Amino acid sequence: MKLYLDYQATTPVDPRVLEKMLPYFTQVFGNPSSQDHSWGWAASRAVEKARTQVGHLLNAHPSEIFFTSGATESNNWAIIGLIRRWLREAPELSDSELSASRLSEHQYSPPALNRPLIHVLTSEIEHKSVLAPLTYLQEELGSRLSVTFLKPNRWGQVTLDQIREAKTSATRLLSLHWAHNELGTIQAISEIAEWTHQNKIYFHSDATQAVGKIPMDLSQVPVDLISFASHKLYGPKGVGGLFIRQKNPRVSLDPLTFGGGQERTLRAGTLNVPGIVGLGEACEISTAEMRQHSELGQRSSPIYKLRSRLLEGLKRVSPPFHLNSHPEHHLPHALSLTFPGHPMAEILAETSHLGMSAGSACGSGEMSGSPVLRAIGLSEPDAKSTIRLSLGRWTTEAEVDFVIESFAKAFSGR
Ligand code: PMP
Repeated sequence: MKLYLDYQATTPVDPRVLEKMLPYFTQVFGNPSSQDHSWGWAASRAVEKARTQVGHLLNAHPSEIFFTSGATESNNWAIIGLIRRWLREAPELSDSELSASRLSEHQYSPPALNRPLIHVLTSEIEHKSVLAPLTYLQEELGSRLSVTFLKPNRWGQVTLDQIREAKTSATRLLSLHWAHNELGTIQAISEIAEWTHQNKIYFHSDATQAVGKIPMDLSQVPVDLISFASHKLYGPKGVGGLFIRQKNPRVSLDPLTFGGGQERTLRAGTLNVPGIVGLGEACEISTAEMRQHSELGQRSSPIYKLRSRLLEGLKRVSPPFHLNSHPEHHLPHALSLTFPGHPMAEILAETSHLGMSAGSACGSGEMSGSPVLRAIGLSEPDAKSTIRLSLGRWTTEAEVDFVIESFAKAFSGR
């Protein structure tokens, strides 16, 4: 038996999602920007329905949802779009006027002449699609932009105290993931968002691993922008979105693409209608599923129970291991485990029928421990002895038991 266990990398398309998408390839194929005929209107209606479905999952207004090609684009857009907007505004204002316009009276302090115009806070363990645009902008802008990369704790969490301490009078943006793609740890987003909101610092969260997996209520949590991708919640690849808050505050950012004026002139390019319909349906299914599970209590949800069964089973059959996912604040389906003294390359070779991901990255042919695992304090050998497993919507108890047996065999005699 072959078994896929890498649902944090991507998920299959739910057949219910595919069914809803199919007519939009061949029958309802109009361009939603064509407003002169019914083909265009039908496509446009489908896009607006999907926008409502996404908004419903996040408890956001549909006008706050902008469709993109996925989380990479959304992360790039949020970061580059905000910073470019602020810089465009900057020449008209002096340095001190700029900070005065953004900070409350109490926080205003006259800027030193060599102080960077914009300071951004992020973590060392963000996805590359957050880190790379920041590095690119740093190279481009030199001393006008400074970025602080906060060090996470053992589980990958960044605390509010750390953020508070790192803040300067130039801090305009915090970019911190909602849940981590390698570790499965969830950040204290509500608490952090309350603080950024009070301090008039924009908060962008890469929520790619959280959307559709854990309940999120953006009417209650004052994040300003969140990124997500459809293929992490049983929708198609190549489509995603950026939530941009429209009220309290109304967030303004520059587009990355210019052209046909789609997405209210903020993201030019013909919309991927079948993909967007798929994302909408995937959100609708996740909303219903989560509502059902919240009645049970998240911890009694079937996937949560399967994860516990797997963890307990592995404890029985494997050598001692550490859990890198936060013991309490973790995604319901994800596990990151370190087996000290057991390089994963060997275990993976013996369990090639299981689609698991090693905590190592291959650069120029040399396997090296993941930078994320190094950042949470793992030694190089421990980082190489780490594995990421995640369960899916259709994973069964029998399959979990099969994983446990496979580990028992792989570790026997070691
Ligand atoms: N952010 C996170 C946390 C992710 O897990 C991923 C996908 N691995 C991305 C961003 C990028 O998503 P996409 O490849 O769909 O653009």
